[in-house]
Amino acid sequence: MSGMSPEMEKLLVLQEREQRHMRLERELAVWPAEMKALEARRVEIRAAAERKRLAAQSTEVERKNLELEAAAHRSKAARYKIQQFETRKNEEFAALGAEIQREEKEIHDIEDRELDLMDIGEKAKKAAAIEIEAAKGREAEVAVKEVEQGAKKIEIEARLIDLAKEIEILAAGVEEGVLSKYRRIMANKKDVAVVPVVHGTNCGGCHMKLTTASAISAKGGNVGVTCENCGRILFWPVD
Ligand SMILES: [Zn+2]
Repeated sequence: MSGMSPEMEKLLVLQEREQRHMRLERELAVWPAEMKALEARRVEIRAAAERKRLAAQSTEVERKNLELEAAAHRSKAARYKIQQFETRKNEEFAALGAEIQREEKEIHDIEDRELDLMDIGEKAKKAAAIEIEAAKGREAEVAVKEVEQGAKKIEIEARLIDLAKEIEILAAGVEEGVLSKYRRIMANKKDVAVVPVVHGTNCGGCHMKLTTASAISAKGGNVGVTCENCGRILFWPVD
């Protein structure tokens, strides 16, 4: 079994910590979008409750308008009745009688519509009350998530500070030439700079077949061997 050089071991630990650091930075980068999404959710919850409230309110307004309309017809009918009472002409009496009937039919129709609207209004009011109550629960959930997000941010930031310190110490322990090569590759690839030789023949980064010389050199524990295709540093995995 070929052993791994201490230099390579140090490089792999450094890489692992830097990858962790990158993952946390990515998490932190999406944090504002996550907070925005929560705020958008709160706005939507409130808007949904408001829509239901307005629906109930508009039914009520409509019903009140019908009430006014019915009152107008009632006073018309009352006026016709007085006129009818006062007239001595049969023709006019009959005409007013027809008018009164028309008004009373109108009042009756309006009252029917009012009853329907009352029913609709009751249902709309109940629906609004349920939605407003549900909205409270949903908003509370959003608030809990916001608190969790806030805590998550603080935790990530703290871990990033710790990792940065650890990375600094680990990097100081790696030989300068190897480190600068590693840094160059990492800055370029942004994911992984040191990869294993897989199946004894291929690069674990780009998966291309390596030259036999590279594979042998990596197996020998040479820290400077890189993939001819992607340029990543190679190591021979210890099983
Ligand atoms: Zn490669």
